[in-house]
Amino acid sequence: MHQKLFILATIALSAVNAHTGTHVVANAAEAPATTFKFSETFPEAGIIPTAKPEWLELIKNVEIANAPVYKVGNGLVPGQDPHCDWTFTGCLAKDDLYKCPKGQWALTYDDGPSEFSPKLYDYLDTVNAKVTFFMVGGQVVKFPDYTLRAFKAGHELAMHTWSHNYMTSLTNEQIVAELKWNELAIKEVTGFAPRLFRPPFGDIDNRVRDVAAALGFVPVIWNFDTNDWSYSSNPEGYPQSWIEGNVTKWADNAATAIDGGVSLQHDLYDSTVNLAIDILPILDKAYDLIPVGACNSVKVYKEGNSTADKPSPPSPSSSSSSMTEESSASMVSASSIGLGIAALTAAALL
Ligand SMILES: [Zn+2]
Repeated sequence: MHQKLFILATIALSAVNAHTGTHVVANAAEAPATTFKFSETFPEAGIIPTAKPEWLELIKNVEIANAPVYKVGNGLVPGQDPHCDWTFTGCLAKDDLYKCPKGQWALTYDDGPSEFSPKLYDYLDTVNAKVTFFMVGGQVVKFPDYTLRAFKAGHELAMHTWSHNYMTSLTNEQIVAELKWNELAIKEVTGFAPRLFRPPFGDIDNRVRDVAAALGFVPVIWNFDTNDWSYSSNPEGYPQSWIEGNVTKWADNAATAIDGGVSLQHDLYDSTVNLAIDILPILDKAYDLIPVGACNSVKVYKEGNSTADKPSPPSPSSSSSSMTEESSASMVSASSIGLGIAALTAAALL
């Protein structure tokens, strides 16, 4: 299992880093032709950026948890979790979003946009499903037309940092830079600044949460992992039938489950996009598909009343309640502890 996770992390990061060495904006050889012109000069894709001085003002007088800046691979002492580290213990803070109300399901896709994303957009259009995309800043700058298309189709656009690094391994200033550059890229393309972000690998603790909150951002984790990355990196070792079997179980449990789902997928590879198209109907039969911000009744953009700006989703029957947070936290925990340790170990080897 750890080996598979390592392979994924390696592939995911190398893919995100694949176009380093040149300004992404000018990297027309890899990106499709676009007439979109960014006014900003963005940092290099895949590299931890530097914050603009005015952004650092935003965290100047804010109380930020004094959690250490972890060296990647140097995790917590077993049994201790003073800073609510989701990766290691599944600990969730009150503002973390990670589920939908019963009967609803949020499909979320990370790491794009990529050259394979339009195939997924096409499919989502045909079935009229609205989802959430957690976009990497460097990819947005490389694929502005895809970003705009996803936005105009009525999907929620959210952030997945600028360079896709482990957020607990970044300084407060680097966390600011990762989120604000990502926000700026999406805002330039769409005119809307996202509020939701997903930490790469789910790597978040209270220090990351406090910095993000000071900038107006809300973390989103997940409560169902498709492991599509395992399949994409090792289809013989983690066959598609396993994923279909899991997803079928999630669908079968719709009537008895306490909560609805937020599932993790990726639109970075052809294989994971094909898989996404394959499994969507299974969930669609059992749940109302709805973006994650909508199912939690939160504003997904900083401007205006964002829910009114977008096509109306079905009304949630209730929003996340702290009454059920404990039980859901332990459900998430069971599946995520291994991921955290393995993911951090993986990064140490990169
Ligand atoms: Zn990711």
